[in-house]
Amino acid sequence: MSEIVDLEHVRLTQRPLLVCDVDDVVLEFLLPFEGYLTSLGHRLVQRSYRLHGNILSTLDDRPLADDVVSQLILDFFAAQETWQTPFGDAVHTLKRLGEQADIVFLTAMPPRFTEIRRRLLDSLDLTFPLLATERPKGPVIRSMHGDRQLPVAFIDDMVHNHHSVAEHVPECLLVHLMPQTEMHKHAPKPGPNVLQASDWRDVERHLLVHFSQQE
Ligand SMILES: [Mg+2]
Repeated sequence: MSEIVDLEHVRLTQRPLLVCDVDDVVLEFLLPFEGYLTSLGHRLVQRSYRLHGNILSTLDDRPLADDVVSQLILDFFAAQETWQTPFGDAVHTLKRLGEQADIVFLTAMPPRFTEIRRRLLDSLDLTFPLLATERPKGPVIRSMHGDRQLPVAFIDDMVHNHHSVAEHVPECLLVHLMPQTEMHKHAPKPGPNVLQASDWRDVERHLLVHFSQQE
């Protein structure tokens, strides 16, 4: 958690800012991760909203140790180009939104996997700047957006990230988007300050309204 977040390559223009999570928002995460686990002889049971404790060995049906699960997640980030595919209509919608807003990908992943994710996003023609950090997202967006008087919006599937952004960037429009998996049915629900989107079409509708409002 000690890494410095490098904002050098993020050049913002005088347009609205959209900060967008990647896993399970722009790229499918849980479904391909389940496939990856199966390929290794493990099994994901979606009985609560966590990976640790819910990955079983098919040899004895016992949960894998937490440190083994943590390593599997890192190994999956290293192998993401083989497994991860676009989430819903993310690609076309982001390209349309990018015509009127600055888009930055903010992904909760160790920074050493940035190059791999960069290649994967580029292969989908999603060339917007990418920041990978395990730091809380709110302060990162605050330092990126500063005190600019322009609309700012944030999309993420995790409620704790919305809490962080609400605390540090209170003027930010918060949009919650997540996959409809069994595991996500157990996820904490966002508060009333967060808009819930059912798909990317819904996201686009919310954002266009927000971006048309000059602050
Ligand atoms: Mg995510």
